[in-house]
Amino acid sequence: MIRYRMLIDGQRTEAVGGGWFPVYDPSTEEIIAEAPKAGPADVDRAAKAARAAFDSGAWPQTTAQERGRLLFRLAEKIRNESAHLAELETRNTGKPIVEAEFDIADTATCFEYYGGLATKVLGHVNPVPDNALSLSLREPVGVAGQIIPWNYPLLMAAWKLAPALAAGCTCVLKPAEQTPLTALEMAGYFEEVGFPAGVVNIITGFGEEAGAPMVTHPAIDKIAFTGSAAVGKNILRNAAESIKRVTLELGGKSPNIFFADADFEAAVDGALFGVFINQGEVCSAGSRILVERPIYSKFIEALAEKSKAIRLGAPLDRETKMGPLVSKEQYERVREYQEIGKQEARLISGGGRPSSFAKGYYVEPTVFADVDNSTRIAREEVFGPVAAVIPFEGESEAIRIANDTPYGLAAAVWSRDIFRALRVVKSVRAGIVWVNHMQPTYVEAPWGGYKQSGFGRELGPWGIEEYLETKQVHINLNEQPIGWY
Ligand code: ADP
Ligand code: MG
Repeated sequence: MIRYRMLIDGQRTEAVGGGWFPVYDPSTEEIIAEAPKAGPADVDRAAKAARAAFDSGAWPQTTAQERGRLLFRLAEKIRNESAHLAELETRNTGKPIVEAEFDIADTATCFEYYGGLATKVLGHVNPVPDNALSLSLREPVGVAGQIIPWNYPLLMAAWKLAPALAAGCTCVLKPAEQTPLTALEMAGYFEEVGFPAGVVNIITGFGEEAGAPMVTHPAIDKIAFTGSAAVGKNILRNAAESIKRVTLELGGKSPNIFFADADFEAAVDGALFGVFINQGEVCSAGSRILVERPIYSKFIEALAEKSKAIRLGAPLDRETKMGPLVSKEQYERVREYQEIGKQEARLISGGGRPSSFAKGYYVEPTVFADVDNSTRIAREEVFGPVAAVIPFEGESEAIRIANDTPYGLAAAVWSRDIFRALRVVKSVRAGIVWVNHMQPTYVEAPWGGYKQSGFGRELGPWGIEEYLETKQVHINLNEQPIGWY
């Protein structure tokens, strides 16, 4: 059994309690490795190492140029290891290898982008009156505690680590317990490319034992979290005690809106891509497919036919378009939503477990039609390949249904009418709105939620902002005493 070790203060380490937990290949249900089962004592070690690395030692003296170069080297290392990392990611998550290859390429690009941005963090001269010079300096927020989900394991690690390191923070990162392997593999790169010990710490374990203690640890200044809304609320509450900075990227129930004048082929294709990519385990999944009445019947017919043709298979097979779900727990959750949907709406494709697999957490891509927006499959995040198709009549009804959700992460609109498409863009309350597309994400552009999808923005210059404090400096240019008393 391969045992991966954590990274604390530059050392590859086991958990203080000596525990390990199994890591699975969800396509075979077999254990493929073990990872250390960290608890509060490990969080304490990691947080203190990150604190010491932030407060003293080499890191606070490191220039922005040097931090940039370290990130470039890390990006290069990841590119060199990309075949290996993609395979490991696929084995641990079940996602098709072709998708994992994109993820690893995006991971390298993310480190590279923030390597470049490290030297472009600018302060200000504030135009104050009086004989004074007023400056705003940007400084790192301190120790960042970063808790990430299992759907894009290494890419989510990069979205968290890259801007924090560029800003000059130190980090304690906790991958999801289902998918710790690529982050633990990457843990070996930091020393090799030249990061000082303690700047990046990676601990593995479960939410209650290893995540929650990060949220309350006094040495940690900020928590960045991506995951479920329920855990996000819990983190926000627990972070209050020590007034930690918090950024949250939570779930979604994103509308993908199709007007009758959209290119029909592109629309059906975009509906499938929006909801089924990565097995639907995507926070911005277009899981509510809103279709205008004149094309509704034809649209659901085409959707049903095309989703039945999606090729499920072994994740490492390059022909595979959909792999298993990440875990037994997630499989059971999605199976339950398939059953709930059958009570609430009309099943038009999928709805169960594919019969061709003896093992693995596979579910059929599932489409429900005639869904009412008040039902559970229209309101609750499934995080799997389950689509709810909702008919609408005209622009204002589309906007009303699109916004009738507690979430606001993403939306998309498909139409050839530029005026209408842009009116929808302005009216939908979401952190991203795609026009005639859904899902592409770029490191140069902001990412984050409205409403209960969270707050704070990742990626682009917005991403580094979340790891910076602003210090005002007032320099008196008058040599005389104040003379007040
Ligand atoms: P899912 O429901 O898909 O498992 P979660 O939101 O539970 O998504 O998990 C996302 C991340 O949050 C994981 O790294 C998990 O270990 C962590 N986590 C879960 N519960 C807590 C908690 N109470 N405090 C901090 N982190 C947690
Ligand atoms: Mg969980």
